[in-house]
Amino acid sequence: MASLFRTPLTTLSGIGNKKAEQFHKLGVDTVGELLRLYPRAYEDWSSPVMISDAADGENCCIRAAVRTCSSPAYIRKNMTLYKFTVTDGIDFMTVSFFNVAFIYEQLKKGGEFLFYGTIKKSDKGTEMSSPKIQTTGKVRIRPVYPQTNTLKSTHIENAMEKALAMLPEKVNDTIPAYIRDKYGLCDLKYALRNIHFPENSQAAQTARNRLVFEELLILETGVGLRCSSRLTENSYIIEHDHTDEFLKLLSFPPTGAQRRVISECISDMQKSCHPMNRLIQGDVGSGKTAVAAAVCYTAARNSLQCAFMVPTEILAGQHFESLSEIFNGTDIRLALLTGSTKAAEKTRILTSLKNGDIDIIIGTHALISENVAFNKLGLVITDEQHRFGVGQRAALTSKGQSPHVIVMSATPIPRTLALMLFGDLELSIIDEMPPGRQKVDTYCVGGEMRGRIYNFIKKHIDSGHQCYIVCPLVEQNETELIAAEEYAENLKKSVLGKYRIRVLHGRMSAAEKDIVMNEFASGKADVLVSTTVVEVGVNVPNATIMLIENAERFGLSQLHQLRGRVGRGKERSYCIMITDNTSPVTQERLGILCRTNNGFTIADEDLRLRGPGDFFGFRQHGIPEFKLVKTSDMVNVDAARDAAREILSKDPMLTSKEDAPLLFEIRRLFPNTQS
Ligand code: ADP
Ligand code: MG
Repeated sequence: MASLFRTPLTTLSGIGNKKAEQFHKLGVDTVGELLRLYPRAYEDWSSPVMISDAADGENCCIRAAVRTCSSPAYIRKNMTLYKFTVTDGIDFMTVSFFNVAFIYEQLKKGGEFLFYGTIKKSDKGTEMSSPKIQTTGKVRIRPVYPQTNTLKSTHIENAMEKALAMLPEKVNDTIPAYIRDKYGLCDLKYALRNIHFPENSQAAQTARNRLVFEELLILETGVGLRCSSRLTENSYIIEHDHTDEFLKLLSFPPTGAQRRVISECISDMQKSCHPMNRLIQGDVGSGKTAVAAAVCYTAARNSLQCAFMVPTEILAGQHFESLSEIFNGTDIRLALLTGSTKAAEKTRILTSLKNGDIDIIIGTHALISENVAFNKLGLVITDEQHRFGVGQRAALTSKGQSPHVIVMSATPIPRTLALMLFGDLELSIIDEMPPGRQKVDTYCVGGEMRGRIYNFIKKHIDSGHQCYIVCPLVEQNETELIAAEEYAENLKKSVLGKYRIRVLHGRMSAAEKDIVMNEFASGKADVLVSTTVVEVGVNVPNATIMLIENAERFGLSQLHQLRGRVGRGKERSYCIMITDNTSPVTQERLGILCRTNNGFTIADEDLRLRGPGDFFGFRQHGIPEFKLVKTSDMVNVDAARDAAREILSKDPMLTSKEDAPLLFEIRRLFPNTQS
């Protein structure tokens, strides 16, 4: 099979450079890649149904003879209708075609054909519009491929037959035989034949089961391989837990969940087997910062240095401030390092860091730049981890000798998916909110309501509150500035003209952003018009309204994040999403946000609606996207993980001959597996 991934498509008869070009658009350049291009559906031509058995709206195949053909009807310019009456011997059906004069040549009176299409049943009888037609000779279940403008499914079908014929007598299987036996899976050759040209629907299912398992197995083995290389002993065993001391520094009692997660982290750091590697998930506002601070405190008290990396300068600044406040009066030494730290200050920080004179350093990705060195980096925390790729996390970790690692996420990932993405991580969930938090009232409205919403905002500002407006999304970064500023200009001309409006967008320098953010946070601005840069972390309790334009363009989890900017104080807060998209799918999606404030429910729904393939930047995590696996297949994840563990326990680096095909696929699909 591996050699077929080196066999160009043009080897197949009937495929020249031009066709090959069209296949290239589907990501297919080799025979091997073609075989892995799976059908998205099937048309079952193999078991025609009787007209009376076909249900309205159903796609089906009907074997029928042509009875009458009416003369062409000219409906309007460029539109001619051809109508036939056909019968299965008992009932009649009307079959119609548009603009295909040659159909008369094909559908001769008395001739028997197979018609495949959507059945429509009404008082007028049974109809099928523009069906596909085939003579009654060779019939089978036919694959339907994702097609492009130029490359039709039938072209792919033809090429696929030739590609399948090139499979060797014995195909080296990606799933070792003992695993196939154990989980009742068919072999690769059978699977490939029957995913494309199934003998019957059972065979198609058998093939699919195997290929789904294979996708999950490749993922799990790939993730397993990635982490087995970093299984080391814990070189920074924590002797004393200083949590109780820390809790006295807090101005509020911790929630039960915060307490639990802190102790889960500390106990990880006390185990000798390997360093902590933990994902902490907690909804926006659940108090992750305090948890991070607690773990840093105990680490620092055990003379380890801690690095706390966050995605934006604003957030770094806010974290630095809240930690400074907590540690005020203690001898914990904090520092802040971002891209805009002044040169002299930076030099001072870098020296202190290297000498071990800083306990906790908070910063942006400036922390991973080359000249940053630690004395004894024992704990690495990344906040809002989805903003960082695997590479960036690894870069920070490599500044210590296998330090303890915590990644924190406010984008709840469904548990199954989290385990898949971070198979090597332990999972902690902060599933409790600090007391007194309010549900944010959420609405989804059309653009025609904008005027009324501005009035609503006006009333709130008049009573002393503030408002965020997330302005329309634009594709290019270049125009982001214009979009935000234009929007703000228009606001100034509207009913909001007399208020203090500020603009925040990604093209501003960190210092500019800080000025605006600080003005807003200290109440010197009423309205903050922003692009999604406000999405992460910022805390302004007096802001009570979040207005989001083009809401349909955001993912649910991202909208939930944006909404998390309000409802942080005691006041009743609102999130209003504006969209002009009235499609049921969009309305259902946005409706989920209106119904629930629970990030985990939202993540589950998002997964259900979008499927795991699209969910939450797989690629960003260096993980291949699924071709077949759907949400309902996730029940197989556990079995696939068990199988992956079994394989790796026998052959940790997949060096045996039997595992070579699996390793080949992992290398092919994982963009950054090291060899
Ligand atoms: P997130 O999980 O979104 O990072 P933060 O750590 O920013 O949340 O916390 C949000 C707000 O809640 C902060 O103002 C913080 O001081 C406050 N907070 C955190 N934990 C508690 C608690 N147990 N009781 C009361 N307020 C808390
Ligand atoms: Mg946070």
